[in-house]
Amino acid sequence: MLLFLSSLATASDGAQERTRAQIAEKYKWDLTELYKTDEAWRMAKNQLNDRLPSIREYENKLGQSSANLQKALDNYFDIVKEFYRLYSYASRSSDLDTREAGALAMEQEMSALGTKMNTASAFIDPEILAIDQKTVARFFSENKKLGVYKQYVDDIQRRKAHTLSSAEEKVIADAGIMAGTPGDIYGIFSNADLPRPEIVLSGGEKVKLDAQAYGRYRAGANRDDRKTVFEAYFSNLKTFERTFGTQLYAQVKKDMFYKNARNYESSLESALDANNIPVSVYTQLIANAHKNLPTLHRYLNLRKKMMGLDKLHYYDMYPSLVKDVELKYSVEEAQNLIKTALKPLGSEYIATLDKAFSSRWIDMYPTTGKRSGAYSTGDEYDVHPFILMNYNDKYDDVSTLAHELGHTMHSYFSNKTQPFVNSQYPIFLAEVASTANEALLIDHVLGTITDPQVKLALLGNYLEGFRTTLFRQTMFAEFELKIHELAESGEALTGERFSQIYLELLKQYYGAAEGVTEVEDLYAIEWAYIPHFYYNFYVFQYSTSFCASTALAEKMKNGGQVMVDRYINDFLSAGSSDYAIPILNKVGVDMTTSVPFDLTIAKMNAIMDEIEKIIGR
Ligand SMILES: [Zn+2]
Repeated sequence: MLLFLSSLATASDGAQERTRAQIAEKYKWDLTELYKTDEAWRMAKNQLNDRLPSIREYENKLGQSSANLQKALDNYFDIVKEFYRLYSYASRSSDLDTREAGALAMEQEMSALGTKMNTASAFIDPEILAIDQKTVARFFSENKKLGVYKQYVDDIQRRKAHTLSSAEEKVIADAGIMAGTPGDIYGIFSNADLPRPEIVLSGGEKVKLDAQAYGRYRAGANRDDRKTVFEAYFSNLKTFERTFGTQLYAQVKKDMFYKNARNYESSLESALDANNIPVSVYTQLIANAHKNLPTLHRYLNLRKKMMGLDKLHYYDMYPSLVKDVELKYSVEEAQNLIKTALKPLGSEYIATLDKAFSSRWIDMYPTTGKRSGAYSTGDEYDVHPFILMNYNDKYDDVSTLAHELGHTMHSYFSNKTQPFVNSQYPIFLAEVASTANEALLIDHVLGTITDPQVKLALLGNYLEGFRTTLFRQTMFAEFELKIHELAESGEALTGERFSQIYLELLKQYYGAAEGVTEVEDLYAIEWAYIPHFYYNFYVFQYSTSFCASTALAEKMKNGGQVMVDRYINDFLSAGSSDYAIPILNKVGVDMTTSVPFDLTIAKMNAIMDEIEKIIGR
């Protein structure tokens, strides 16, 4: 199930928290569109539970005839569709008031039902995989009703080369209970057991430096404080370098086990193959980042200049470039702003936005007990997507709303166009439509603002996104690749070695040799702070999404109606009817080339040109 969490900020951050009764209906979800009442939900749930055994009626029979395969999949996906709708009702209810025991119980019941459903359907993929290719081809040519499952079946069949005998598969499945252990140990150790250093800031304030406090105080305006924060935080991590290193090496060894077991060339190939992403997309990204380091260095030099520094240190990365300005937008203002900014996306897009605003697709305000952050969910195939917001009048909230609406519209068009089985878009594309909306919004807002200070603040914020998403995440991706390659070549890795590799990359990216940034050796341990190294080659997708969405937003602004139609019909409506890379190709974004990255770099340079123009005045 797809659930996109965009911000982990707390709901009550400065806002006056209200009860749900104090909020007008139009700003609250209408969950009766899913089920009229809790009783209706329960009845539907019991009915679905009774249907689960029907999945197994086709066990050991899928390969026998095209009719069997089609009927089995029709039945199975119809059950999954209803399951999602039931889950959504439980989960949305519980998110509206996380303290409410009834809703939480509903969610737990759904979890149990999900396990039951998965057990009942566990035979489907292996049985489809076992059908030989000639038979599969015959099934599809003789039974047109099977056509909607083409992509689904193809996605299973293409893994044939890396599927083993059933006895071997059983050993691999059994090994699964150990697979999460490195990440679990890292999580517990770094979140719970790691001792936290205490520091005293220049104002006399005592701070216990956990990850949240580090995130907050590293952006402080006082430079001595930032230095103190960095030194204390990284020195503390450094004390546990051996332990962190053993944890990360365990993760790398786990990835190598799967790579070897399934006969892949590399851990990278093994990880990317799950979503059918070519290795060249990954290596191209890293090559592009290196080629464009001068642009990152231009930004770092600009930062140094704007902060009035002689030398830029690694601890100078996080403060805003100019004093933050408080822009305030009511919900209505935000809606109008978003509609104007997204106008290039065409009339159906805008009409659907209106529907989302007026028909209670969005639960807008923070209320007591409500889940924090923001998300969009598109699991409600026959209904409509839902957005959870904690709107608090700031520009960031407007941007978050535009972002979530990107997810919502992606789900809306895919659900409308595709059969259920192909309705959920691939994970590699998940953040493209959302980030494209953010880009269109900021471009529009910048065009409406005349106050140079406000403009600088927005531009600076935008620019920082290029550093953190485009370059920093790619640097992480490169680190991840390097450590796997070394392990695969037979080297035993230690914390000390991880630090050595990381420092080398950090110095390269931040231009230490060119005198752009001073990178102290202590920061070599930063890898220990990044949980994403336990996600198996996941982080590169932040950078690729950012490039793809920037390229798309630029095309949309300049491509006219033809481009808009392609975006709606070939991208937003595509769901998972094809693999991610070909879907992007259809809208002219080829992630195996450097074109999207180059467009993104051009954008980054244009932002810097504009900043320099303003500060030059
Ligand atoms: Zn998102």
